Amino acid sequence: MKFSPALENLIDALRCLPSVGPKSAQRMTLHLLERDREAALTLAAALREAVEKVGHCSLCRNFTELDICEICCDPRRDKTIVCRGDAGGRPGY
Ligand SMILES: [Zn+2]
Repeated sequence: MKFSPALENLIDALRCLPSVGPKSAQRMTLHLLERDREAALTLAAALREAVEKVGHCSLCRNFTELDICEICCDPRRDKTIVCRGDAGGRPGY
């Protein structure tokens, strides 16, 4: 199946996601364009906002929109315990 350059571009872009192969990327692209353009725009805006706003806490490296995350800012928190996102848990949730 031959797609327009913009569609090919979107299919390629979606493949940066884990577990998304060429077929899944095609399916997602066609779904968004044929059935849910509104959701596609919402997705695009949310992606941009997250990428622009979210960084890492300078103390614990957790995702945060602040320099130091809310957990590290909490004075009640035991500073000797550091939650790491790569340790298998989901700190901050
Ligand atoms: Zn932190």
